[in-house]
Amino acid sequence: MAWNVVIAGGGFGGLEAARRLERRLPHHSARVTLVSDQNYMLYTPLLPGAAAGTLEPRHAVVPLREQLQRTDLRLGSVTGADPAARILRITTADGRDQELPYDQLVVAVGSVSRTLPIPGLAEHALGMKTLPEAIALRNRLLQSLEIAEGIDDPRDRASWLTFVFVGAGYAGLEGLAELQDFATDLLDHYPRCRTQGVRFVLVEARDRVMPEIPESLARFAVAQLLERGIEIRTSTTLEAMTDTTATLAGGEVLPTRMVVWTAGVKPSPVVARLGLPLDERSGRIVVDRSLRVPGVQGVWAIGDAAHVPDPKDLARPTPPTAQHAIRQGRKVADNVAAALADRPARIFRYRTLGVFVDLGRGKAVASTMGLRWQGAPAWFIARSYHLMSMPGLKRRVRLVADWTVDLFFGRDGSELGRLGHPGRLDTPDRLALEQREADEARAAADDRATAGDRAAGGDRAAAADAVDASR
Ligand SMILES: Cc1cc2nc3c(=O)[nH]c(=O)nc-3n(C[C@H](O)[C@H](O)[C@H](O)COP(=O)(O)OP(=O)(O)OC[C@H]3O[C@@H](n4cnc5c(N)ncnc54)[C@H](O)[C@@H]3O)c2cc1C
Repeated sequence: MAWNVVIAGGGFGGLEAARRLERRLPHHSARVTLVSDQNYMLYTPLLPGAAAGTLEPRHAVVPLREQLQRTDLRLGSVTGADPAARILRITTADGRDQELPYDQLVVAVGSVSRTLPIPGLAEHALGMKTLPEAIALRNRLLQSLEIAEGIDDPRDRASWLTFVFVGAGYAGLEGLAELQDFATDLLDHYPRCRTQGVRFVLVEARDRVMPEIPESLARFAVAQLLERGIEIRTSTTLEAMTDTTATLAGGEVLPTRMVVWTAGVKPSPVVARLGLPLDERSGRIVVDRSLRVPGVQGVWAIGDAAHVPDPKDLARPTPPTAQHAIRQGRKVADNVAAALADRPARIFRYRTLGVFVDLGRGKAVASTMGLRWQGAPAWFIARSYHLMSMPGLKRRVRLVADWTVDLFFGRDGSELGRLGHPGRLDTPDRLALEQREADEARAAADDRATAGDRAAGGDRAAAADAVDASR
């Protein structure tokens, strides 16, 4: 009888675990099932580039089926689990509830944006964690420029030309730098906006940007951004926002229509429904140094969803990075294979290879194995690293093509916000529809007015009767 190995989540960690298990487990010895709510792995370091149009959004993802040979991919959402009965509950993409029995379960569901109860934040801010969010950022930026260009009063234009990023980790900083670069490129086509200029503001609660990289590199990055006119507010928090303003601690009100929230992540909410022990502070699944969930038979957890003891300092968890998720994916596959063969598990050891922060305009900062790089060499190292890490030759060639086209021909400024939302097939032409809606609204208003007149006439008649009666 074959073993059932189930992997929940097809991101960096889950995909790597599945690929390794395909190699480690002999054919027919085990059935490996990967459950994912999307049929691709998102290569997140390329998200800022996708948002800023330096590459096609489709080229920032890796289709899971292209990478997996004998893993059964189930498109659906993990909704819960019963670890005592060794069952994972899922809802398939077409809405059917299913129970998947497992002998070994690997939880790799990643993280989501961590929001705070700031008035207006959830309603008005955009994140930068998913592909739809990256595409929305690009479209919102383009739409803002289009609208601003059609406004006569520069004071009214200001809110459309001010962009606020909250959170100065590498995701926030790269996103801000790439989008500002994109906006600056586009300004040539928007004369009014060019005269007024765009304003980018970075807000960070801590007293420095990017604690993930050495301070000297962070200083270089800050100097680059300041030189480009980006405003950086450290030791400052966002206190409230509306659809047209962002209020900072201290009371400063920025007129803005676009706030991007990149202030940290928390584990995917489903981890709380799996019946597994969670770390009190981070909410991540508790695992030991071999990535096994202690006290629960046959369950492992990796990546952003897991509280993996950092080999450098066992009291702290490993940082939520793709580098760690990938290595943990490999290690967990080895340990699952060992568990099925009744061999002992090995502990996870990994030292960060380095950190890269792309600042756009051919510049970056990087720290790799004790060496520090900045400017063009760092940018070249960062791009080469992502090219090497991207799974599959086809994807790499597409990336090189995108980057080369961008280098020589610049970026495309078409606003494609309606892409994928074509409207109803039977919708008549839009102007006719709007005309009909306006006519109907006017007729309804007339009806109400006539009814009101009639009621008022009736009231007046009744009043006259009452006066007559009183006489
Ligand atoms: C903009 C940005 C830039 C980044 N840049 C870098 C970088 O340069 N270097 C670096 O090392 N790290 C970077 N990171 C961090 C990195 O993306 C994460 O640490 C990494 O993705 C974690 O891998 P994971 O496998 O744990 O989760 P993920 O890769 O997020 O995968 C989780 C998967 O599980 C799926 N899932 C979630 N819930 C469910 C559910 N209920 N049912 C089914 N499927 C589910 C998700 O859709 C996803 O496919 C960046 C992150 C962002 C947002």
